[in-house]
Amino acid sequence: MQYRDLGKTGLKVSALALGCMRFDPNNPELAEQIVDEAIAAGVNYFETARGYVAGKCQQLTAHGLKGRSRGLIVSGKAGINAETTAAGYRAEIDLQMQTLGVDYLEFYQVGWFSLAKMEFLTKKDGALEALDKARNEGIIGHIGFTGHDSPENFTKCIETGIFDSCTVPYNMLNRAYAPTIKRAGELGVGVIAMCPVAGGMLASPSPQLQQLIPGGAKTTADAALRFVLANQDVTTACSGMNTVEMLRENLETTNNFHGVNAEDFRRMDAILDEFHSLGERFCTMCGYCNECQEGVDIPGNFHLYNLAKVYGMTDWARAQYAAKEADKRADACIRCGKCELKCPHKLQIMEQLAEVTKTLG
Ligand code: SF4
Ligand code: SF4
Repeated sequence: MQYRDLGKTGLKVSALALGCMRFDPNNPELAEQIVDEAIAAGVNYFETARGYVAGKCQQLTAHGLKGRSRGLIVSGKAGINAETTAAGYRAEIDLQMQTLGVDYLEFYQVGWFSLAKMEFLTKKDGALEALDKARNEGIIGHIGFTGHDSPENFTKCIETGIFDSCTVPYNMLNRAYAPTIKRAGELGVGVIAMCPVAGGMLASPSPQLQQLIPGGAKTTADAALRFVLANQDVTTACSGMNTVEMLRENLETTNNFHGVNAEDFRRMDAILDEFHSLGERFCTMCGYCNECQEGVDIPGNFHLYNLAKVYGMTDWARAQYAAKEADKRADACIRCGKCELKCPHKLQIMEQLAEVTKTLG
């Protein structure tokens, strides 16, 4: 297992982290096996939250941890709002430790965070007071945040100096947070990259993405993980794994990947930029055309079409198209033409929807 510095914390984190949010809620034995095997393979970061897996995430993770948390980086998480008090937040930290069966959390994340919530965090008698107190008492080690605010706002959050890490989505199909990740690297803030395989989307075949990796990649998931880890400012790729096979495949990728040089990384990024702009030339997903009276999900259909045409993910796109409600699919269009009047790019939506039907239907 490779280990990377977690910002300025002095912690060494395994390049692969286990997201514990996809366990089967009815199979504690499997969750235990996954956590056990991950620890044995050198994985030392475990992302948990009380609400995940229908409220069972931390009980399931506890089966595998068996009280172990020192020497590992176990992360708890809770959101905040205007009513959050220091006492209430501390009670939640204690509850999460109890549920996990541990007496220490190396990380505690302020979950579902945004710049707008900074005042709830830093107010008198707010969550930060609870986090600082817990850290001083040796109950938690470090503080991070996670959420889905804009990259610009998250950059401002890390520039406050409050946080030791940020957890943001980053993968071949979504590099929106790349500037935040770069800034985190400059400031010595750790980066936990979540959704490295785009919630499973990048588990489907895409020859284009596999060829992007220097020397090629065995599978798209292999390519996806390599791409994330190729970014030197990413501390760890946190993947939600729910089978032992998935864990073993990701371990194999991580253990066999030794980075790419700066030039190769720039080349991969530039090709992904080109793929992205090919899609955007077709439809920017702005949503101005929504409200089709027939219910057709125009940007959603075009997104699937892009995945098939630009990234070669035709199998995935066809499966998603088939799973769409009938009135949302491209073939529900009755060609009234109203949406075309709203499209700022003057796209021939009716013609393109017919093309979607031909390709994915
Ligand atoms: S042309 Fe088709 S997609 Fe556009 S508004 Fe009319 S029915 Fe809906
Ligand atoms: S208005 Fe045009 S660009 Fe925007 S989502 Fe609809 S089709 Fe795409």
